[in-house]
Amino acid sequence: MPAQILDGKAIAAQIEQEIKAELEELKSKYGVTPGLAVVLVGENPASEVYVRNKGKKCSDLGINSIVRRLPESASEQEIIDAVQQLNEDTSVHGIIVQLPLPKHVDPEVVISHIDPSKDVDGFHPVNVGWMFIGRNRFVPCTPAGIIEILDRSKIEIEGKRAVVIGRSNIVGKPLSILLLQRNATVTVCHSRTVDLPSITRQADILIAAVGRARFVTADMVKEGAVVIDVGINRVDDKIVGDVDFDAVKEVASAITPVPGGVGPLTVIMLMRNTVQATKMRLQRSQ
Ligand code: NAD
Repeated sequence: MPAQILDGKAIAAQIEQEIKAELEELKSKYGVTPGLAVVLVGENPASEVYVRNKGKKCSDLGINSIVRRLPESASEQEIIDAVQQLNEDTSVHGIIVQLPLPKHVDPEVVISHIDPSKDVDGFHPVNVGWMFIGRNRFVPCTPAGIIEILDRSKIEIEGKRAVVIGRSNIVGKPLSILLLQRNATVTVCHSRTVDLPSITRQADILIAAVGRARFVTADMVKEGAVVIDVGINRVDDKIVGDVDFDAVKEVASAITPVPGGVGPLTVIMLMRNTVQATKMRLQRSQ
């Protein structure tokens, strides 16, 4: 039987309604409208698209969106100065630095200058550390979105064997921590993993965050597995995932499509983190 298609768009729309209600409450009770600032350096076309999408989602929801643009030639210190200005701006509740940054800039150094209480991407070492010990503050958006897809599709995580392909700081690693928090037995695979298919075939839940078009083939997937495809790859002007969708859907019990799977969740989780940052500030000031 072909797999159930996990509709990320529909799940994101459901969460959007929940966020709208929270935003209305923030406005009516406290007169507060959250502000989300994006630091955008240079003119990377993909980053431009991502920033535009985030801005559009903000305006749909009534979150103030600020884009702080800097030229490609900006120094690390100039970018840090821009971040620090936003740290001090009380109309800004959440700050993200759009990645990638130009080669001459160390993203970890820049991110470490974001006020952790405004770090809505959840990349600051303080927030990563909190998550590592199981006290989640801001959880990175893509991994958080994947957990939402599983939960809202009633896919049990506890006790399941989860295999994550990819160990990046923004997807693979934080996702492995979240799955572990939910009592999955987690294996993280990466570019140096030996005999990857023998490991992926053991997965009840298989997550592909590799960045290679149609990398996961049907023979790498156990019959009845749940497959989450994080990849966004451009092939001949088409966006495809890291999973060979047409073949794998015949083997899996459930699968996310690309586009329309994980992607819509990532943006909406950013909005949710921004609302959370706003609420946390209100709590601190009470
Ligand atoms: P990355 O390049 O930082 O990491 C890729 C990972 O894949 C690495 O850890 C690497 O070890 C692993 N890898 C590479 N080749 C491999 C191989 N042959 N076998 C096993 N592992 C291998 O990428 P990322 O930032 O984690 O993103 C992964 C993909 O997810 C990309 O396509 C990216 O565009 C996409 N992405 C999507 C969203 C979304 O919202 N849907 C968000 C973030 C990233």
